Amino acid sequence: MRPELESQLSNCRNLPSPPGVALRIIELAQDPEVVMATAADAIGLDAALSARMLRIANSPLYASRRRVENLSQALTVLGLNATLTLALGFSLTRCGTGTHPVAQERVWRRSVIAALACRLLGQHAGLRKAEELMLAGLLQDIGVLALLEVLGDDYAQLVERADDNAALLAAERDLLGCDHAAVGGWLARQWNLPALLREAIMESETPVSDTTFNACVAVSGHVADIWIAGTDEARTEEAHRHAALQAATRLGLDYAAFLALIEDMLAALPEVCTMFDVPPAPPARIQALLDQARELLVVRNLREIQEAARARKEADEHEDRARRLAEEVRRDPLTGAYNRSQLEEVLEKEFDAATRHGWPLSIAFIDLDDFKQVNDRWGHLVGDEVLRNFAKSLMRHVRSSDIVARYGGEEFLVVLPGINEEAAAHVVRRILSEVAGAAMAHVNGQPLHITFSAGLATQGALEQFRHVDDLLRAADEALYGAKREGRNRVSVGVVSP
Ligand code: GH3
Ligand code: MG
Ligand code: MG
Repeated sequence: MRPELESQLSNCRNLPSPPGVALRIIELAQDPEVVMATAADAIGLDAALSARMLRIANSPLYASRRRVENLSQALTVLGLNATLTLALGFSLTRCGTGTHPVAQERVWRRSVIAALACRLLGQHAGLRKAEELMLAGLLQDIGVLALLEVLGDDYAQLVERADDNAALLAAERDLLGCDHAAVGGWLARQWNLPALLREAIMESETPVSDTTFNACVAVSGHVADIWIAGTDEARTEEAHRHAALQAATRLGLDYAAFLALIEDMLAALPEVCTMFDVPPAPPARIQALLDQARELLVVRNLREIQEAARARKEADEHEDRARRLAEEVRRDPLTGAYNRSQLEEVLEKEFDAATRHGWPLSIAFIDLDDFKQVNDRWGHLVGDEVLRNFAKSLMRHVRSSDIVARYGGEEFLVVLPGINEEAAAHVVRRILSEVAGAAMAHVNGQPLHITFSAGLATQGALEQFRHVDDLLRAADEALYGAKREGRNRVSVGVVSP
């Protein structure tokens, strides 16, 4: 604050000064030893103040089951802290000489509305200091009252002409090099108000420490501006938008919660205005705006739901595609059987599980007989078709828990978890007879039949392999034996010492 302004303020005889009661209350508020009876004595000196305290104790803000009839009952309902802060608010807001009634009325109205907003914002933010919040909301513009006294008509015109609080602040900074929040803070210090209040007033227009308490006070001013905008539709809307933004950024209040707050304010304001002798604002425009905003919110919610649904669908499709791709990577493109790398992974897992739990695990190495001749005689395309159809019938003849993999060329490996030697031999022999009996391709309308040789090995009761490779080697040796013995047969491997 400029020194000239400070000395002007210091020397001003009409400066809003707390009446005797308020001074006494400030004193009491700072004293931790004070008891209710002392507060009652101080307030009882002022009949108008006593009447107001009665009114507030009976108001819905302090829902009490029984009607409060006298001051001491009122103070019991309100509690010591509430009593002192509210009494202070009542006595301080009506300071000043009343020489600029229009401007003063405007400040009082904004203060009273802000006081309620501040209380509700604090409640939402989980602050327990309801009365201090109300008082800070109420006193945040006390600097305007001081400036009205010190600067007179010039400043009154500034207040009356300013479209909104932002415009007033700009004009003040231009004219005085500081704003009414700084003046209010200065005044609060002169009055020896508690530090919590002083700082909240000082920071009501520019965040410094930005505690939740101070943020509530600052945002409450913006909320009050919605009512101050009066009947002007565009200004009301702009004030509404700005307050919602401030509430969201400084207090994390989402828009739905903000609208609920405005609704609570509409309900409580007539009572609060009566309490403070301020003419209530016509709520019609604000109510209409609220309804409109709610509609918008519903539309927005609907849109959000639709968008969420679309996003979910897209994510599902993505996942599907990724799953399909992963599955494709695991399979051999010609036959659709598992490929070699996938086989190795699955086989190792099955081998470990079987070894650990003592379950049998059989594998069958299958190699088509004289397949080279199929290619040589009928061409690779026919060979491919045979491979495809052979794999298909293999997969058809085993259980879904079994694994069919193409090991390479015309060699396949079937993994049969939980199946012992005997059962595995039975399964593979049945497959051999099915395959041999069915056409694996047609050449010139003639069915093409093939056979295979298979070698079996089982990890289980009879034999225990130390490593999965040993199991594979045993099956491979058995296959070699089957070939040697004339093909078109299934042979069971034995452990080589
Ligand atoms: P054996 O009874 O001893 O197994 O004789 P074979 O002719 O089946 O064995 P060999 O290993 O000599 O020949 C395998 C043939 O399989 C050679 C190769 O051309 C053929 N082959 C390997 N992969 C494919 C393929 O993807 N498509 C086709 N059409 N032929 C393939
Ligand atoms: Mg071969
Ligand atoms: Mg072969």
